[in-house]
Amino acid sequence: MTSRQPPRRSLVTGANRGLGLEFARQLLAHGDHVVATCRHPGRANALNQLVGEHPGRLHVLPLDVGDPKSHAELARELPLVMDGIDLLINNAGVLHSGERFGHVPPANLDDSLRTNASGPFLLTQTLAERLVDGATVANLSSVLGSIASTASFSTPSYAMSKAAQNMATVLLASALRERGIAVIALHPGWVQTDMGGSGAQITPVDSVRGLLKVIDGVGIGDSGTFLDYRGKPVPW
Ligand code: NDP
Repeated sequence: MTSRQPPRRSLVTGANRGLGLEFARQLLAHGDHVVATCRHPGRANALNQLVGEHPGRLHVLPLDVGDPKSHAELARELPLVMDGIDLLINNAGVLHSGERFGHVPPANLDDSLRTNASGPFLLTQTLAERLVDGATVANLSSVLGSIASTASFSTPSYAMSKAAQNMATVLLASALRERGIAVIALHPGWVQTDMGGSGAQITPVDSVRGLLKVIDGVGIGDSGTFLDYRGKPVPW
């Protein structure tokens, strides 16, 4: 007799478009039970269409990652649709382009730090009790947040916020290690999304396929590392 594994329970932030939407698609194709979160579920047409295609396996819940009250509401609603989280993908992110030294708007910096760094850190802290022992937390970072790889003044709000997120990844890895929960930073490549633009190198399909392969292979020994979508280490 063969024993069937129960479906993985996965939660994705920023799942209404771009890489988040593709994560939801591929996780569903893989057989996962998925909670896909976004700021405005009523307007998330592509996601809502997926709900119809996967009845009972996809739930769309509201979440603004920059708002801790929204984190708390999600934590309250979550048990109604999912009894634990095996995989948390902190995907939502923002990039303010066109910033020049001397003219970086404080609001850009605040928004970037809140969305890209504080957001994933505080959400993971809030959801920690819902993460099962042995779970994986994947934080979508960027090579632009790699201090070691930075040679010019470019996208400062984004770069600083992703560098701060990288520190959050290492700290969360340390805090959750004793429960066997692996926390990793991931660079998805330069991807054709609204953020990456149409001239980017790879498609969301290829990026997410690679990222999920990396996630599937992650063990507690990899916790606190920074990997790209091919599994190659990225310098901090
Ligand atoms: P997109 O700009 O295409 O999508 C961003 C997603 O994040 C949207 O769903 C957006 O929702 C959501 N989001 C933004 N702010 C918030 C918020 N406050 N609360 C909830 N959701 C929010 O970006 P990508 O899909 O390309 O990027 C996904 C992740 O990958 C990001 O973290 C990004 O930094 C990272 N990345 C992407 C690269 C690329 O080349 N594309 C390269 C390196 C890293 P809404 O529609 O409501 O704005």
